[in-house]
Amino acid sequence: MPKKIAVIGGGFSGTMVIRQLIDHGFKGTIHRFIQENSETGGPAYKNNSAPLLLNVRNQNMSAFPDDPSHFVRFLELHFPEHALPNNFVLRSIYGHYLKSIWDETKDLSKKAEIQLQLVSSFQVDHEEYDAIVLATGNELPRIPTGLSTKVIASSFYQGNPWEIDFNSIQHELPIFILGNGLTMVDTVLSLRQAGFQQKIVALSTHGFNMLVHPENEVLTQQVSAPVQQDLHSLVHFFNIQRKGLSHAQFLLLVDSFRPYFSTWWQRFSLDEKKLFISKFRHVWGTIRHRIPTQIAQKINEERISGQLVVQAGKLLSFQENGQFAQIAYTSDNKVINGDFACLINCTGPETDITVMSNPVIKDLLSKQWILPDLIRQGIDIQADTHLALGNSPMKIYAIGNLCKGTLWESTAVGELRAQAKLIAKGILESK
Ligand SMILES: Cc1cc2nc3c(=O)[nH]c(=O)nc-3n(C[C@H](O)[C@H](O)[C@H](O)COP(=O)(O)OP(=O)(O)OC[C@H]3O[C@@H](n4cnc5c(N)ncnc54)[C@H](O)[C@@H]3O)c2cc1C
Repeated sequence: MPKKIAVIGGGFSGTMVIRQLIDHGFKGTIHRFIQENSETGGPAYKNNSAPLLLNVRNQNMSAFPDDPSHFVRFLELHFPEHALPNNFVLRSIYGHYLKSIWDETKDLSKKAEIQLQLVSSFQVDHEEYDAIVLATGNELPRIPTGLSTKVIASSFYQGNPWEIDFNSIQHELPIFILGNGLTMVDTVLSLRQAGFQQKIVALSTHGFNMLVHPENEVLTQQVSAPVQQDLHSLVHFFNIQRKGLSHAQFLLLVDSFRPYFSTWWQRFSLDEKKLFISKFRHVWGTIRHRIPTQIAQKINEERISGQLVVQAGKLLSFQENGQFAQIAYTSDNKVINGDFACLINCTGPETDITVMSNPVIKDLLSKQWILPDLIRQGIDIQADTHLALGNSPMKIYAIGNLCKGTLWESTAVGELRAQAKLIAKGILESK
């Protein structure tokens, strides 16, 4: 068993890999590298004053794959008024849950005489370790092409949608959001909570509407998995189902097949993966990333009142003149020029490791200890072990977003908790 391990990341994934290691008998030293003041939260569950809810029901948010009711039991004990399995609770409550697991983990490590040490640094001396776990999570969104360094450095460009600098945004002009997914929804609610009343324009390539989680309607028909699992047959299968089922039933059907998606994905040819990314990823993303009804109602009110305008189009240019952001974009085949308070980038985390700014990823990549996957959606890993495929002298494991190219579905708690257990098992069984 390796004796000295580095776990890099202060979010759910880092916490759960360490917890699984301890629960399964690890003996030795663990150094956990974190960003200062961020032991467990990550951008998703930090203590935010905005009323942001989980996008997944309580019953599916346990951190332990073998104990599905763990989160609901935590709620029953500490937040009984929110404990219904079917509910969506505040993300800050989930932050408390993760903190309680981390506190417990630290106690367990003491009892098991494991040297568990927190290191507040983004630099890692890799050679020291027998194994490294990359749990670096959500990278900032890619900077849109064509932006000058002056614009990027200015407060008119808000490149971190999870840590918006509200103080630097003026209240008079409209706000421009690039992206139209869950992060856009969070951003709109956070802006309103922070007192910004002005109009918000959200631009995305397709301008799809966010879908809402169905109330727990029972999927009346049992639909068996499609026999042909190439991309073309799967698209055909889902199209047929969509026509035969109610909207809610179709969404529940997608949920029931989501755990299969990684297996389908791994069997796709490179061309199929590329086709999926160019043609179907937005549709699939919209169908499976859904919001709770309460949040949908707020967004609908915003849209009906005209305070939030969602448009399909492309960003053409973005400049600043010291007082406001001048943005040009297309919508309905027209070019629109507007003056905005700022642009907030909500296009989703960067996945191409060759352009990531994370010093650990950069360092490992420069040594070729990790390699990008063929479609530039993360690190090339072995799907069944999560071991990075590179020329590393030690074992490097990756979890979460970094594994998207190999697994596609590698973001939600349901996926990460299973990955954490698998990685811990791999470490414990390795020589
Ligand atoms: C806003 C938002 C809401 C979400 N809501 C849900 C939900 O409701 N349900 C669900 O199942 N999933 C949700 N997700 C998915 C979410 O990504 C996962 O649930 C989970 O939080 C990811 O955890 P992680 O540890 O992999 O990454 P992160 O939470 O991103 O944590 C990684 C941490 O590592 C740190 N780090 C990175 N590099 C280094 C380095 N070199 N050195 C030191 N520290 C480093 C980062 O600063 C960060 O704190 C949400 C995601 C986001 C962004």
